Amino acid sequence: MAHVTPHVLADLPLARSTVPRAAELRDVPHVIADALADPATRVLAVRDGGLLLTDGGGVRWLDPRSAGALLAAGGATDGAATADPTSDVWLLLGARDDGTRVLAVRLPDEHPLTTGGEPADVLVHLPDGPVGRGGWGSLRAVGAALDAHDAGLATAAVALDAWHDRHPRCPRCGATTRVAQAGWSRVCDVDGSEHYPRTDPAVIMAVVDDADRLLLGHATAWPAGRWSTLAGFVEAGESAEQAVRREVLEETGVVVDDVEYVGSQPWPFPASLMLGFRAHATSTRIRVDGVEMADARWFTRDELTAATASGQVLLPGGASIALALVEQWWRRPPA
Ligand SMILES: [Zn+2]
Repeated sequence: MAHVTPHVLADLPLARSTVPRAAELRDVPHVIADALADPATRVLAVRDGGLLLTDGGGVRWLDPRSAGALLAAGGATDGAATADPTSDVWLLLGARDDGTRVLAVRLPDEHPLTTGGEPADVLVHLPDGPVGRGGWGSLRAVGAALDAHDAGLATAAVALDAWHDRHPRCPRCGATTRVAQAGWSRVCDVDGSEHYPRTDPAVIMAVVDDADRLLLGHATAWPAGRWSTLAGFVEAGESAEQAVRREVLEETGVVVDDVEYVGSQPWPFPASLMLGFRAHATSTRIRVDGVEMADARWFTRDELTAATASGQVLLPGGASIALALVEQWWRRPPA
């Protein structure tokens, strides 16, 4: 029988996924070329962290011809990019239960559809219809509105795109690497080393005191009014729980004892995995470091409700685990 803890964060926007990743297909010879030859294959377009969207704000799914046409509009000859199995233009994201393969096409930064922020309704007319007014949207901005089918695939596409962008060379010898496993690894032909997408663990925590107040911070790098839960990267040789205690102490001077894991979600901007926690504070005096953290304070529910209603406090976006942590605290009054 499943044990359900009431503290677990469910349905984190970017952690939802209904399409199997189908890792068994990645080493199948010509898997990308075969998928592109199948009109049933569906392709999402990604460029510099942005996704091509429908007018309604969902992912704009393309057939292979349209994806090729979009790529060609960016200056690449679709034939060459399609045929080259070592190209890092195409990524295999997964396969639906009915066998439909799902790909991403990576477009160059200077793609004509990406100039400015204007609606792109007439720039490219694709075989399966015009590119609509949805234009491009960042996963960070649109992720909360995606359904579970699109969210997991879009998150994988953005994560892989960012990794390929930033890791074209072998970290051992500096040689240019080639893509392998349908976009899920890179290989150095000089020293034979294999390289896989990086994921950097970070902790993010709802710190609560004995009066059930929530600790929020305002980082020096943030716009005025932005407040959020504390967060930070896990350092080398450190556990996630240790990172929670260290970050809270460093950024605010607050000491925490009990640390409880509540859930995680990928945050591919560019390569984080956010590990969410609730932490209990044993001290309440705040001393911000002034370097990363400009200000921090304790909020009661009434104070936070009033501050967000007045616009004095702007909470993080709907795709973030930070907002989920705040909402979980807000909904759960003291026992
Ligand atoms: Zn190498």
